[in-house]
Amino acid sequence: MGGVKILFAYKGRYHIRDAVTIEYLSAIAKRYGHETGLVYDQDIFGVTDNILSVPALSRIFSGTKKAVEKAVSGGSRIVVFLDGFTRRGWNDEVSGGIKKADAAIMTVFLSHIAPRGSYDYTLIGEPEFAFERFLSEGCCDSPGGTRSFKGLADLDLLPLPDKSLFAPYVNFRDSYLVYTGKGCRYGCSYCEETVYKKFSGGDYFRRRSPENVILELEEAKKRFGIREVIYKDSVFALDKRWLKEYLAAYTRRIALPYKCFGKAEAFDGELASALKESGCYCVEFGIQTFNESLKRDILKRDEKTEDLLKAFAVCDRYRIRYDADHLFGIPGETVDDHKGAARIYSSLLYINRIKCHNLVFYREADIFEDAPQAVKDDMGRNSDFFSSVSGEGAMMRPNKTFQKLFRTLPLLPAAVKRFFTRGENWKAFRFSPGVLVMFFMLIIAVKNGDRRFFVYLKYYPSRVKRAVCG
Ligand code: SF4
Repeated sequence: MGGVKILFAYKGRYHIRDAVTIEYLSAIAKRYGHETGLVYDQDIFGVTDNILSVPALSRIFSGTKKAVEKAVSGGSRIVVFLDGFTRRGWNDEVSGGIKKADAAIMTVFLSHIAPRGSYDYTLIGEPEFAFERFLSEGCCDSPGGTRSFKGLADLDLLPLPDKSLFAPYVNFRDSYLVYTGKGCRYGCSYCEETVYKKFSGGDYFRRRSPENVILELEEAKKRFGIREVIYKDSVFALDKRWLKEYLAAYTRRIALPYKCFGKAEAFDGELASALKESGCYCVEFGIQTFNESLKRDILKRDEKTEDLLKAFAVCDRYRIRYDADHLFGIPGETVDDHKGAARIYSSLLYINRIKCHNLVFYREADIFEDAPQAVKDDMGRNSDFFSSVSGEGAMMRPNKTFQKLFRTLPLLPAAVKRFFTRGENWKAFRFSPGVLVMFFMLIIAVKNGDRRFFVYLKYYPSRVKRAVCG
């Protein structure tokens, strides 16, 4: 197959793994002499929007028609779709629309998991590995159908992700996202990383070499003048040997402030000191719940509250801000769990944000067995950890109220915190308007120098404008 134009169709926010996977796919296509382009629905106010998920507004800004038109007029022979838990319907509709408008355009569907919909080519396997094989074997010249590709890409042999693809939509200068590896060592029952590991095998969790990551960041500094790095790895602060080599090079050659994810059980003073010295200004920890039996039995997270408290204390000692990811909608959760969590969060010194998420029951994830019947029966359900449904039945109202309280809590003076975490006083938060909560979150961001939150708000108007104007 000679050089052709390949379009990648994607719906969702940029700051997740799938967008970077598409950048890698684009870089691989270019390595094989092809030109690439992007059909992008930013999912403004949609289920993947981690701060402003508003279904009614999402329907106004998002649609398949525009994506089909762009794909058909893009002068491409091939349009590639990457499977994703939140955009399966969108993928199917856009590919169907493209075939209807121009049957000569070939559609390619890439999935870790299984075929679906009707695409000319379906490639099952790790996307980077499968796509590279597909191109190297000149498969677009062969008859269509489904093929499985067993194996994993060598992360250091992949070309660096093609940043030009999303450059018109994303400001890399203010905040540059990077993954230093793929997968996760752990196996939480609700997590997409666990699903991908289940389908791709235990070796799926691996890391790039320090040098390979540094080369990407050097290129980003040169090209975009980046001012901050966001490590999006499941757990960045984990392997001390890798980190020692990496952070030494990072301090010497990159030296920019950064934010990353940590894991409580592996977090200690040595790690905190190394992070702080190399520019880390905030570590994000997955908490989900402080109810240890729910965490162990339902979420399959063998994590002790004691370890979390130790990790927070270490951050307090080293004056590193930390975010806490808290999950609502866990089957079996109670108001008492939330009240206990509120008391713990109130006692923390350097806490930055308590990020509230709603549990999603992916059909392929182990937690699906524990999903409420209504969720199991709803085949078309499309939600993400940020969208608006939180829990079921009698827990829905308390969940919404505690989310407002948690988002505000880091800002409140000690006496006010004590008041709201006593008895049933949390209920007063039920009446606080969402706009006010957002305002409080903004103040927290200003107070703590949380650059990431600012960058999100700063570019939201231009994202909306682009969604309207195309
Ligand atoms: S630790 Fe985080 S990334 Fe890893 S499996 Fe659990 S939820 Fe997923």
